[in-house]
Parts: sequence; structure tokens; C-alpha cells
Amino acid sequence: MPATAAHGPADSYTPGHGSRDYRVSRYELDLDYRVSSNRLAGHATITAQASTTLATVVLNLAGLRVQKVQLDGQRVRRFVHRGTQLIITPERPLPAGTWFSLDIRYGGTPAPQLGNWGEVGWEELTDGVLVAGQPTGAASWFPCNDHPGQKASFGYTITTDANYRVICNGVLVSHSAKASRETWVFDQPEPMASYLATVQIGRYDLRTLMFPADTTDHRAGRPVLQYLGAPPALMAKAQTALARQGEMMESFETLFGPYPFATYTVVVAGDELEIPLEAQSLSVLGPNHLTQDWESQRLIAHELAHQWFGNSLTATTWADIWLHEGFACYAEWLWSEASGNSTAADRAGAAWRGLSVSPQDLMVGDPGPESMFDDRVYKRGALAVHALRRAAGDGPFFSFLRAWTEEYRFGSVTTSDLCGTADRICGAVPGFDARTILTPWLYRLPLPAL
Ligand SMILES: [Zn+2]
Repeated sequence: MPATAAHGPADSYTPGHGSRDYRVSRYELDLDYRVSSNRLAGHATITAQASTTLATVVLNLAGLRVQKVQLDGQRVRRFVHRGTQLIITPERPLPAGTWFSLDIRYGGTPAPQLGNWGEVGWEELTDGVLVAGQPTGAASWFPCNDHPGQKASFGYTITTDANYRVICNGVLVSHSAKASRETWVFDQPEPMASYLATVQIGRYDLRTLMFPADTTDHRAGRPVLQYLGAPPALMAKAQTALARQGEMMESFETLFGPYPFATYTVVVAGDELEIPLEAQSLSVLGPNHLTQDWESQRLIAHELAHQWFGNSLTATTWADIWLHEGFACYAEWLWSEASGNSTAADRAGAAWRGLSVSPQDLMVGDPGPESMFDDRVYKRGALAVHALRRAAGDGPFFSFLRAWTEEYRFGSVTTSDLCGTADRICGAVPGFDARTILTPWLYRLPLPAL
């Protein structure tokens, strides 16, 4: 992080969230949770490095009470918890470059946080818990440097009531039972933005999704392990709805490059959900998303595509949210084509016609915080991707997609980064210039001709 970037707001879309003054490399979250009373007792161990001289360390935590803070095992001068910010003052300022460790004990009754985007974060289900962190919900359950450009690895140790299953990001390391409590340990080694951290708790069964032999990733010589967690009563319906996910995975690995994580888990919550949600290495659907019609299948494809676009490659700032949603929406169209449904060009035409009769007053490349999840960011963002494909031709375009996901794997990205990779891979195509192609779609208001 350049020195000049320090001290400013981390992101104008989410004021008060995130800090550029230090970087977290690892969160260890040890949580004890009681489902019936929604009581959480947490112990977060955060390993971080100062990017500038730190007189205070500012984290985000909302709706929970902090009991104790230690820095490198020592007491701190003071800590103040105000609104969504936890401001920690060490005994002495931490020089730039210093590695430090924070131990934070906290607890209470976690609740979703209300923002521009409705309620986000920790949410009680009829029987269990769902965490939907995008964009500022992470602070509802752990102290964090809450910003998409701040990626860290995670470890979770979660103890809860027996007969519930806990599903987090990453890989299940161990599971043990003691009296009426069970403990679940997960490791998420690849860097992850805080909003993608999640815990799902429910009376779930877990199955390995079995697909025909064609799900093997032949380049890497391994199949991507895919799991399904669902209430027993919904398991059969969920398996039917996900019957083509193996083909989807194979298709996306061919088009986008290797699946970025060790496993992929789909959780079906017991309660209906307005929209599915993506988290790193897992997605969450509602029982209302379990049909075989296009509306459900496109959402299943969309959430899977976010593993490449959004989770492995994460926008450095929220203004570039089209790098997540435009690509995930375009992936729906690619799956439509690959699965023998409408071609991507037909889907693009239909989206264009829809946009042509919608207000053209949104700048997709910087939509503003209120509109970052506006459907036009998704559709017009996907049309911007389609415009690159049309200009480059299929061969160079798909080479570019694979180069993009490889070059910035597990990293933070901007639209300029995208243009750089596109120009490098497609530059030999006469007249190709990514910035010139994208500008009318992203940074002008009138809808360009398709
Ligand atoms: Zn999405």
C-alpha cells in the first residue's frame, strides 16, 4: 500500500469500514454459539502488519460488546467501541512495518446490520444461522478490517449445540462432540475478503455430490470435490436442482481456468431466501431456488462463477463491483450456451433490449453505493464483457479470461488491471483496445449499440 494511500477512507462506498493503515494476514475466530438464545461468545486472534505508523488500530465490530483486548499478549492503553468502530490505542505507537497480534474477547446477541442494502450479516433462521456479509455484514460477528481490498486467511473453531451442522469457508479440519456441544474446525488458507467470510448453522445433512466421470479436471488431474448441505427434507429436491452443477463446473474450468479452491459447497437453508449468496468456496440457496427452470439454473451458475470473479479475484474497491457481477452474469449466458439453451449472443440481445427501455442514468463502472447491486450493473456489466468478446473474437477472448483468473488469482483487481491483461492477450487483434471498448459501457450513461 503506498504511503499516500494511508489515513484516507478505505472506500467511499462504505464510509467508516476498513482501514488502509494496516493489513491483516490471518483471522482465527473461536466462537461459542447457542442457537436457541442466539448468544455468541467470541475470541478473535488477528495477525496484522502496520502499513504506516499506528497510534491507533481501528477495526469494525457492530452490535456486540468487547470485553478484553490485548496486543502481542499485553494490555493496551485503552480501547473504545463506538458504533461500528473499535478503536484500540497501544501503549506505544506501532512503527510502519511492525507485525502485531490482537486478541479480542467479545460477545452478545449478534444481529444483522441495516445499511443501504437492507439487512446484512448474522441472521437467525427459523432453526439456525445464516451469514450474508456483502458488503458490510462481517462486522456483525467478528472484529475485522472490513474492506474488499483487505484479504486474509481464516481459521474457525465453532462450538454449538449438538445436532446442528456448522459449515464455514474452506476445509473442515476436525469435528468433535462433548456432552451436548459439538466443535467444528475449518481452515480457509487462500486469502479472503471479510465480506466473504461466513458461517452456516442448521440441521443439515452433508452429501458429496456425485456426477458422471466427466467432472474430472483433466489438466490438474483431479475432480473438484462438491458438497451439498441441506435439511434432510430438502435433500432430494436439492440434488435434482444441482444435477448439472458438475457439467457447469467442467464448463467453467474450461472457459475460466482451474476452479480456485479445494472444494465447493452449496448450502440450502431451511428458509426461503430473496436471493442466493456467494461466499468463498461456498454458496447458499433457499428452498425457493431448487427448480430445474432457467431462473434457478442461472442463479446456480451465477454463484459458482463468483468463485473466480469476486472471490478469487476481488475488486480492490466497491466501485468496481461490475468486475464481480458483470462476469458472473456473463457466466450465466455462457452456461446457457454450453447447456444447449439460448446462445450468449441471444441472452445479450435480450438484456440489451431490456436495458434500452430502462432509465440510462447509471454509470456501471462507478454506480455509487446505493446502486452497487442495481440489476443494470449486472446486465450492462455482462454486455461490457460481451463487447470485449465481440471485439477480440472467441479464441483471444477466452485466452484473456483464463489469463485474467491466473494472473490475479487470490488477488485484488481494478478495471485498469483488466484492461492491461485484455490488451496484452488480445492486442494482436486489429483495432482492439480494451479501454476504448469498455468506456461507453462503463463510464458513459447512454446505452451503446450492441
Ligand atoms: Zn452476483
